[in-house]
Amino acid sequence: MRVFSTIVSSSTRIRRDLFSFLSLFHSQAKSIPTRIPMGSGEQSLRQSLSEKLSAVEAQGNAVRALKASGAGKPEIEAAVVLLNKLKIEKAAVEKQLQASVSGDGGSADGVLSREAFRQAGVNTLERRLFFIPSFKIYRGVAGLYDYGPPGCAVKSNVLQFWRQHFVLEENMLEVDCPCVTPEVVLKASGHVDKFTDLMVKDEKTGTCYRADHLLKDYCNEKLQKDLTISAEKAAELKHVLALLDDLSPEELGAKIKEYGITAPDTKNPLSDPYPFNLMFQTSIGPSGLIPGYMRPETAQGIFVNFKDLYYYNGNKLPFAAAQIGQAFRNEISPRQGLLRVREFTLAEIEHFVDPENKSHPKFSDIANLEFLMFPREEQMSGQSAKKLCIGEAVAKGIVNNETLGYFIGRVYLFLTRLGIDPERLRFRQHLANEMAHYAADCWDAEIECSYGWIECVGIADRSAYDLRAHSDKSGVPLVAQEKFSEPREVEKLVIAPVKKELGLAFKGTQKNVVEALEAMNEKEAMEMKAALESKGEVEFYVCTLGKNVTVKKNMLSISKEKKKEHQRVFTPSVIEPSFGIGRIIYCLYEHCFFMRPSKAGDEQLNLFRFPPLVAPIKCTVFPLVQNQQYEEVTKVISKELTSAGISHKIDITGTSIGKRYARTDELGVPFAITVDSATSVTIRERDSKDQVRVSLEEAASVVSSVVEGRKTWKDVWASFPHHSSGCSDE
Ligand code: AMP
Repeated sequence: MRVFSTIVSSSTRIRRDLFSFLSLFHSQAKSIPTRIPMGSGEQSLRQSLSEKLSAVEAQGNAVRALKASGAGKPEIEAAVVLLNKLKIEKAAVEKQLQASVSGDGGSADGVLSREAFRQAGVNTLERRLFFIPSFKIYRGVAGLYDYGPPGCAVKSNVLQFWRQHFVLEENMLEVDCPCVTPEVVLKASGHVDKFTDLMVKDEKTGTCYRADHLLKDYCNEKLQKDLTISAEKAAELKHVLALLDDLSPEELGAKIKEYGITAPDTKNPLSDPYPFNLMFQTSIGPSGLIPGYMRPETAQGIFVNFKDLYYYNGNKLPFAAAQIGQAFRNEISPRQGLLRVREFTLAEIEHFVDPENKSHPKFSDIANLEFLMFPREEQMSGQSAKKLCIGEAVAKGIVNNETLGYFIGRVYLFLTRLGIDPERLRFRQHLANEMAHYAADCWDAEIECSYGWIECVGIADRSAYDLRAHSDKSGVPLVAQEKFSEPREVEKLVIAPVKKELGLAFKGTQKNVVEALEAMNEKEAMEMKAALESKGEVEFYVCTLGKNVTVKKNMLSISKEKKKEHQRVFTPSVIEPSFGIGRIIYCLYEHCFFMRPSKAGDEQLNLFRFPPLVAPIKCTVFPLVQNQQYEEVTKVISKELTSAGISHKIDITGTSIGKRYARTDELGVPFAITVDSATSVTIRERDSKDQVRVSLEEAASVVSSVVEGRKTWKDVWASFPHHSSGCSDE
């Protein structure tokens, strides 16, 4: 949950946090991160290219000079040979630099460029109705998408697994709160005032753009397409990219002007940047008098229910509440397809914990996991993410506490079990300037796809900020108690105003003076006590009056008293993993998307290698040829699959079996049962295309045993007569 929004960038996920942003803006000692260094390879290539360009230019001049001076043919020819050699060298460096800055070498199949790979995947997803642009027949609306039948099935599988992996395994308390939220709630959380992005307008047409996106695009384009810029200029642009998140509206506007950035579509001048609130506003009820918003996250529903949930949990900490639901953000100019949308599903956990004890009883379960982590230090010194053991990261203090570390480990397991490639998943720590001032530590699970590294899950230790904000606004204490087994003796500061004397001295402003006196901390109170004892009176600043008043010795008593306490009352800290379900699903699509040649080798066939857990349909059943006997057998198998709870599809079309396999591969169906006799059938596994032969009676149970993870395909292969794809009938 955030009081700010995120920008997805191809290199880093950049976050606009207005709380931290404002505190930085007002702070004199604004902390500018050190320049993010360029990869040394890229830097030396840029250097080398600029040397080659100068050499080519110099040699070109030399050739011209020779010709002009009427030099001999052999001399001119030798100079031209050298010029051509230099041009070839320049072209080679240019090519290397291009590959280095575009990152195209890293596409999933190693052959296609990122864009071509994405296009092939997205075309398949759209053609097979995994998703549909919403309201398509009316030309759609940017940032709104429908999930079609296989998309719905994948989403439902992901959410079912989320419930099992988190809610069930961790005994979380699930809630389901409304999307329509009264203004007071989002005022307390800070969203009404601060959930904004900076926007600029085309001064002539009024078209709106996100200011930081335009600056980011300019820098990235220059870096990737203009190979002639100097290494210094490249470093400056990278520095701007790294600082993007920290720029004030004025600084952002100044950079846009300095670089001459104009409206992308018209090249018209742009307005100065100004904040735009991302929430969709509405009013509740017919009078229009109760302002409300569509929630931008689900977390607030949990915070406002804290008191009841704590009671439901037997007044015990720690405990976690969870919620899955729609969130709405009126993104200024949504891009990147399914990754940045205006309505999306969030799955959020709020784990409430004693701020004085953030250990986790199950930490040892995940302590040995090792995965890519990108701590702050590595980012600042220009290194890349590296494999770290989460137990070690917590022990060394790289991750702030065990509970945060535990959730990082659990998120890693969740994502990789869904089918996310562990080599394209990293946990990136927020830089100090990215974090809200109240946050103790934040890590994002970022998944690499054709758009770059995308923040898909945010895992933050938000301290007591949210509960305190709602306690203050609602007047309802959202606190927990720790009962002591033995009463504890504590020394308490007691400030006792003598109201009669204060009333006489301050009359109508007595209340302000009393409140200010009672709000003194221990140090201030003890200093006042000492001053009153030595001088009899003291000057005291009352901020609500905006002036000093004279406080005399007879107006209050200040003492320290010993008291017995039976319990400690405190506001719990909250550790919040927040999952963008649509982003996870999109990245999963890309990680599972492959192309392989058809048997004849004349075309490329698409397939999604979904693990059975997320596959939209687990099995297809094909009668090899259309006849009544095979169709009867198909019906029997279908009935058994249904009673085993295995989603399946029957394909009785007369097309060739190879074509039918290709069709189900495109939907990512992991198993296909082909009915080619009345007593036995073949089961084909999608990725290897290998087949086993099983009896009719066993078919459904074999498929369900692999789908449910009780057996592997290898076990099945070893237990039944089989043939590998080399001799299949495809
Ligand atoms: P935030 O509250 O901004 O940290 O967002 C929580 C999660 O929601 C992020 O980690 C993203 O996965 C997801 N998310 C945020 N904004 C969008 C958006 N416009 N479209 C889709 N997913 C989003």
